[in-house]
Amino acid sequence: MIVLGIESTAHTFGVGIADEEGRILANINAIYVPRGGGILPREAARHHFLVADKVLRRALKVANVKLRDLDAIAIALGPGMGPCLRVGALMARALAVKLNRPLVPVNHCVAHIEIARLTTQSQDPLVVYISGGNTIISAFAEGRYRIFGETLDIALGNFLDTLARELGLPQPGVPQVEALASKGTKIIELPYIVKGQDMSFSGLLTAALRKLKEGIRVEDLCLSVVEYAYAMLAEVAERALAHTRKKELVLTGGVARSKRLQEVLRQVAEEHDAVFKVVPDEYAGDNGAMIAWTGVLAFRHGITIPIEKSYVKQRWRLDEVEVPWRS
Ligand code: AMP
Ligand code: MG
Repeated sequence: MIVLGIESTAHTFGVGIADEEGRILANINAIYVPRGGGILPREAARHHFLVADKVLRRALKVANVKLRDLDAIAIALGPGMGPCLRVGALMARALAVKLNRPLVPVNHCVAHIEIARLTTQSQDPLVVYISGGNTIISAFAEGRYRIFGETLDIALGNFLDTLARELGLPQPGVPQVEALASKGTKIIELPYIVKGQDMSFSGLLTAALRKLKEGIRVEDLCLSVVEYAYAMLAEVAERALAHTRKKELVLTGGVARSKRLQEVLRQVAEEHDAVFKVVPDEYAGDNGAMIAWTGVLAFRHGITIPIEKSYVKQRWRLDEVEVPWRS
């Protein structure tokens, strides 16, 4: 079985191709980089529209498969930005109709988890999923990926990217902020906001920008912000690990590439006798391969969607999705 998957939820337009054994035959991704501020959904959608054809052809070539070899088309229907989602969905529907193949709906967050499980060979991990748009701590229980902690406002990646922009640094912002943090020497006091199992980063952002105006040393500010944010995450992850008693802790999403975050979470895992694993860099950020692979898992369990019902779902929560392949 060969499934082609399309990712277009935010800044990345990606096409991946995967087979039933979990081999990734192609993973081609084109990333929209905003000129000034944050992602403009309509501009990102325009980028996706312009690169779609080239990315698709390249993926087929790299995988060495023909369109007629495909058994199903998987599409990330959400969560994400409406205009971006619609570009991928349009292409997926067109391919499904043209090839007379089923369309398989994939939730973007489930895909970040499944590609991490595949590539780190984890069975039943507690997952820490940190990206530009999401901050979620999740584990499988009773048929679904349940949420054991999330952000109440902005995502961790978005938070540090915004701070980077305010500091005049280029994107992606997280490694930029971390590079300055590594030259910091002093940790200042900032708001530490954890409510139950949920985190809030917007107060931290406001406070950081205020300190900046007051003339704090930028390196110290970055160090403080990064350490506060990762400590909040570690606290929530630790409680989730203690509660779920999972024996693996897996880090996924774009920010999984952070060495400092890896270090902090590895310590949490070790204290609870859990094995710590990180998704490989190639599959950390948004990518087509994760949609293709999750498409394989879903399609094997008969999950398809009629074209006329394949609406995009901007706010499709992780814990709304049935995950029969884990049951
Ligand atoms: P995603 O939305 O999953 O593609 O992830 C995007 C996020 O990953 C952004 O917040 C980036 O700043 C962050 N990011 C990109 N490269 C790195 C890196 N090398 N280390 C840490 N974070 C990164
Ligand atoms: Mg993502």
